[in-house]
Amino acid sequence: MTCIVAVTNQKGGVGKTTTAINLAAAIALRKKKTLLIDLDPQSNATIAFFETADIHTSMYDVFSDRPAEMAAIIRPTKDANLFVAPSRLALAKLEQQLAGQFDAPFKLKDAMTPIQHEYEYIVIDTPPALGILTVNALVAATHLLVPIQAAYFAIEGTDDLLETFGRIRSRPNPALKILGVVITLFDKRTNISRDTHEQIRAVFGEALFKTRISKNVRLEESPAYKETIFSYAPKSTGAEEYRKLAQEVLQRVQEDRVARHTQDAA
Ligand code: ADP
Ligand code: MG
Repeated sequence: MTCIVAVTNQKGGVGKTTTAINLAAAIALRKKKTLLIDLDPQSNATIAFFETADIHTSMYDVFSDRPAEMAAIIRPTKDANLFVAPSRLALAKLEQQLAGQFDAPFKLKDAMTPIQHEYEYIVIDTPPALGILTVNALVAATHLLVPIQAAYFAIEGTDDLLETFGRIRSRPNPALKILGVVITLFDKRTNISRDTHEQIRAVFGEALFKTRISKNVRLEESPAYKETIFSYAPKSTGAEEYRKLAQEVLQRVQEDRVARHTQDAA
């Protein structure tokens, strides 16, 4: 079964896109065929791989009234195991266009059905809002991964996210699970980072990944060169930490599969 991870937090600037890109890349480097879906109209994940001028078809076409097949918009990357479904600014129009359509929350799930078995992992980058695009990601996903920035007010707003998670689970997607919470932009020299780490651990407990993503300028630079952290600065702290995070993710997914299997057998 394909593992579909939605990387979500309605706050902007918390490391969603950086995490989506580099987690997908780290999984692909472990020879697992991986698809990164960019659902943010700001298209930061897309621009980290391609020139905007080269993007003629995108997720916007998939959501349109005469939908394109996802297979037609997915693009290969320099990494043979990593593929990207690009976004365009036009995606911002969907909040209005889809309003009132009864199947609006299911568009992504339906579009993914014919192609998802081709991938072992699908990572979805979401916009900084709990609107229709994020809801589509949560309806289509098997797992939710929440990046939280180590900063004051870090967990403010996570209750809204958890409430949305609960509502999605109660109806459209009862199988959705929290894969984990990852602390991002961590700076071990500051009290703020250490305090928020404790606070986040107190709130999320076991869900918190052991791996923290530190502030690392290489992570900020790599998208400008259309590189992932693994080709841009393979020995950097950023590369090392995202490799570790990927390892934890794969381990949790594996444990989850075993648990489901045992449940099914019982
Ligand atoms: P979001 O998708 O949640 O808005 P981004 O991943 O785009 O967040 O990160 C916001 C900004 O912070 C970007 O400029 C990004 O390059 C930078 N950034 C993200 N993670 C790190 C990190 N660990 N170290 C340094 N800069 C980072
Ligand atoms: Mg982003």
